[in-house]
Amino acid sequence: MNGVVYLVGAGPGAPDLLTLRAARILAEADVVFYDALVHPATIALAASAEKIAVGKRCGKQATAQKFINKRLVDAARTHAVVVRLKGGDPMLFGRAQEEIAALEAARVRYEIVPGVTAALAAAAELATSLTQRGLARSVAFATPRVAEGEAPSDWARSIAAADAGAIYMGVGQAEQISAALIAAGKPPATPIAIVESASLAESRKVFATLASLSSLASRFSGPAVILIGPQYRARAQGVQDNAPVPDFVPASRGRAGGASD
Ligand code: SAH
Repeated sequence: MNGVVYLVGAGPGAPDLLTLRAARILAEADVVFYDALVHPATIALAASAEKIAVGKRCGKQATAQKFINKRLVDAARTHAVVVRLKGGDPMLFGRAQEEIAALEAARVRYEIVPGVTAALAAAAELATSLTQRGLARSVAFATPRVAEGEAPSDWARSIAAADAGAIYMGVGQAEQISAALIAAGKPPATPIAIVESASLAESRKVFATLASLSSLASRFSGPAVILIGPQYRARAQGVQDNAPVPDFVPASRGRAGGASD
């Protein structure tokens, strides 16, 4: 058997933030390898598939990744439709490249299906554009997280150089992030927002400043992105440092039309 492996983006969490293509491929899947953050209702779309959790734990990522690569290759030998289901978009902090390399080396056919990445779902929760006209004409996607044995990246400089930034896998290192960005030239008063579980009912968000980032981040235990940029100042105004703003219904919900930036 020469099956096809689909690297599929499951979106940020809400099961209906999935592409039609992803839903169709899941319905056809014979086997699905899914990440920890994928919603059970999304996995359930693969009605007739064998479903295998391959969520990785910190510190064991390299070994786990090699193991996943091998399982994908092996599955393609015995199944027609193999799905590797990843949170958000597979091509952003998703380790898709390692899997692509392994599939190519084994001459297994593959296809990539994009998904809605967390930063975009977070922008929707905040009703604040990532590229607000007049304030932010560039956005850097970054993470301070590197795999074991990998050289540290110069992520802070790229965020400092852009108008706005979205930091993934960062809440656990908030203190270092705040210090690194301030050292890279961002003023301590730079507005930030933290959005947890974007797109899900339990989503929480807070606006603050870079200086107060570390004291705030400990309040978030779920998946969260840190957004940085002048466009968050307006919402942060009047909010005391360290105090979460009350949740509000994003202005975008239930409102049609409007010009984009
Ligand atoms: N490929 C994924 C990112 C994987 S890295 C994507 O495109 O979204 C995992 C990180 O994504 C988490 O640590 C967190 O920073 C972010 N994340 C994932 N889901 C999220 C959500 N619903 N809300 C906020 N951040 C999320």
